[in-house]
Amino acid sequence: MRLFLITVYGTVQGVGFRPFVYNLANFFDLKGVVFNSGFGVIIEIEGKEGNCLEFISKLQSQKPQNAVIKKIDYVESELKYFNSFEILESKNSEVVTNIPVDLSFCHECQSEIDDENARRFNYYFTNCINCGPRFSIIKEFPYDRKNSSMSSFLMCSECLSEYENRLDRRFHAQPNSCPNCTPKLNIYDNLGTLLVSGVEAIKVCAKFLHEGKIVAIKGVGGFHLCCDALNEVAINTLRERKNRKRKPFAVMFKDLNQIKEYAFVDEVEEKELLSNKKPIVLLKLKKNISDNLSFGIDLVGVMLPNSPLHYVLFKFLNTPIVVTSANISGEPLIKDSLELQKLSCVYDFVLDHERDIINSIDDSIVQVVEKEPFLLRGGRGYFPKTFFIDKHNTPKILGVGANQKSTISFAFNNQIITSHYLGNLKTLQSIEHFEISINRLLKFYNFKPDIVVCDKHKLYESAKWAKEHFENVLEIQHHYAHALSGIGEFDILEDVLAVIFDGTGFGDDGTIWGGEFFVCNRYSYKRVAHIKEFSLIAGDKSIKEPKIASLGVLFELFTTKELEVLNLACLKEFKDFELKTLHAMFKSGKNCIKSSSCGRVFDIVSAILGVNFLNSYEGESGLMLQNFHDNSILDYYHVDIVDGKIDFTNMYKQLVFEIDIKKGVSMFFNTIVEIIFTIQKEYSLPILIGGGVFQNRVILGLLIKRAKKDGVKLYIPKEYPLNDSSISFGQAVYAINL
Ligand SMILES: [Zn+2]
Ligand SMILES: [Zn+2]
Repeated sequence: MRLFLITVYGTVQGVGFRPFVYNLANFFDLKGVVFNSGFGVIIEIEGKEGNCLEFISKLQSQKPQNAVIKKIDYVESELKYFNSFEILESKNSEVVTNIPVDLSFCHECQSEIDDENARRFNYYFTNCINCGPRFSIIKEFPYDRKNSSMSSFLMCSECLSEYENRLDRRFHAQPNSCPNCTPKLNIYDNLGTLLVSGVEAIKVCAKFLHEGKIVAIKGVGGFHLCCDALNEVAINTLRERKNRKRKPFAVMFKDLNQIKEYAFVDEVEEKELLSNKKPIVLLKLKKNISDNLSFGIDLVGVMLPNSPLHYVLFKFLNTPIVVTSANISGEPLIKDSLELQKLSCVYDFVLDHERDIINSIDDSIVQVVEKEPFLLRGGRGYFPKTFFIDKHNTPKILGVGANQKSTISFAFNNQIITSHYLGNLKTLQSIEHFEISINRLLKFYNFKPDIVVCDKHKLYESAKWAKEHFENVLEIQHHYAHALSGIGEFDILEDVLAVIFDGTGFGDDGTIWGGEFFVCNRYSYKRVAHIKEFSLIAGDKSIKEPKIASLGVLFELFTTKELEVLNLACLKEFKDFELKTLHAMFKSGKNCIKSSSCGRVFDIVSAILGVNFLNSYEGESGLMLQNFHDNSILDYYHVDIVDGKIDFTNMYKQLVFEIDIKKGVSMFFNTIVEIIFTIQKEYSLPILIGGGVFQNRVILGLLIKRAKKDGVKLYIPKEYPLNDSSISFGQAVYAINL
């Protein structure tokens, strides 16, 4: 007889791992214990040596579907002569390995929901150990029912016996419930009058949607505003009431077949759509859904029902529905009905329920480029994310992220945990939400940081918050943090050429950077090339209005006389006196910012070509330019690179005469790719990309193909979105390597 002490590292909580271990131990006739520790799940097994070793190998090969095992360590130890195999309860003092994420309903639960004779027929909260809400309902660690928003609901005897039976699929399924012991589901009108409850409420909800009404539906991570996606009048009403002019809406479909009626789906996209994370997937439209859904942009964000409630809803509904976050523009997602009243003039009815959402979390967004999935927004199903590193006993580190697409990351032991997308820190409400989220996450882990890292930008709310609450806060440059997030994700030890293209980030020289080439590694960086600085007239206005951004370049390259002759559409957008004022501003340099931002170059090009003059949402220019890309056009503009400064003068001078938008756009995209590979040749280093500009699917696709053709190693981060959501992870990576 032998005894082995086994440590399992990875995502092993809330995924049915301990019951699996219990059953496996019994199968091999082994005695011992299993429990959680700060590092992972600890197992002690005692029995025949062969059985013990067989057990260890099966831990990995037969693990529950949602468990992620990073490593299994085992050593032999002294015999303890156990009488049985036991699952020991988690103790409050223990720090568990990580926060389990919310997962969509599994196939077994789906069959129960479909089974007229099952007690969970059409039951909207069906879940089991392999599926259901997790992070969104956790108040405290360890993850147990008493620490979740299900604590106030007593299980009926049938549910309790499932919960206590080690062989049951619902053994320790914390949110377990059934129609007999369920939190109530109700539908109200916008004055708060209760109409009906239970499955009837879902039927009525479907009827209202069908009639063109706007219904707020409480989803897993917060409320969504929903309406019939085939009803243009309803969509218009939603746009008007929500004051959302052109930004495309995501659409939820009944099933894959219904999606395929409207959009092209390849096998990778299909896999993403069907995964238990159920993200929104950006798809190319096959036929128009509704004119005012995305206004000519040929992409649509699509998802399948991600909770039993949505699944049951579609049993009574045959049309796809618009699903958009219920919030006031720029503010966090609303998670309870009291707060929702702020939007009572937006929705007609609300489908609400009693299972509280503790942590609001947005839907994740994924796009597939060249058969590879990339995260555009990290929310439900993906985050909070634990990233395991090959270092033990690192100091406790907190990275507070950027200002837009905010996230936080904290590192301890051998892991970096990154929060879900916390929104843009622009309004008081979103800053408050940021603080609440940080405090809750730190409390989960009883975490007091030794090192705090923030962005160099003094006006970032995250940086201000860090400096208010901690001493000796480290500042790190925005684009280097982007690079470090990729270096961390791929554990790159060598030097790389980091190409970081984004909207804005505070540079070391006090200008606004965003078109950067660094030769760097995990310890240091050198800015070896960048887009030549240009003037952003009227500061922030240039960011919102591509037509103003274009003036910084046009005034530089042409006299006012020449501009009159050129007669560009973007100039006709201005009244004479406006142009004069802006020109005076440009001349004096007053109210002008110097910038090397690549995001703004996209804006300038889209204004000059007459594609987009005004961004009604972030990244609109890039999305609209994509529409005009023609992959049969291979030409590019010649660009001068002198002393590492990338000068687009020649390109702009040709673009102002370009009447073929497709040609202009395609050549511009090709130019961006050409520049990257020209500079790469000079340094002969692998390329690592970062920054929101690379979320442009055309640019990303061209890059991947070109790297293959040229045989250049290209690192594209996948675990974290390429935009500013990855900054906090990069900040943590920086501090780990100090
Ligand atoms: Zn299930
Ligand atoms: Zn029950």
